[in-house]
Amino acid sequence: MLNNDCIFCKIIKGEIPSSKVYEDDKMLVFKDIEPKAKVHLLAIGKDHFKLISEADEGRAELLKYILLKIPKIAEANGLANGYRLVINQGEDAGQTVFHLHVHILGGEKLPW
Ligand code: 5GP
Ligand code: ZN
Repeated sequence: MLNNDCIFCKIIKGEIPSSKVYEDDKMLVFKDIEPKAKVHLLAIGKDHFKLISEADEGRAELLKYILLKIPKIAEANGLANGYRLVINQGEDAGQTVFHLHVHILGGEKLPW
């Protein structure tokens, strides 16, 4: 289920443009609009939920699907030398978009 007020759901629906690098019926990967590394992609599921803490058995299937797809998508986007995956959870992590997403960061030696 998608949410009408969520920017990532709007990206899924094509109501907000994005630079897509991978899409299928379950997930979408697109370039972060404010990249924090030379390559900065965001992987999202086509189901709206806010936080990793809201994941349950029903959502585990989608999370597993996304995580297993990421290595191939990363390699296809110039990250064969390595990358970092980040999921921000809530305020202290600085989460700003409340549609679960995995950051894929790389394309350079990461500074931390
Ligand atoms: P968070 O801080 O919630 O983990 O990450 C949200 C990310 O989404 C940020 O890195 C931010 O730059 C990115 N972002 C926010 N709005 C948009 C948008 O409209 N388009 C794209 N491509 N990225 C966005
Ligand atoms: Zn959403």
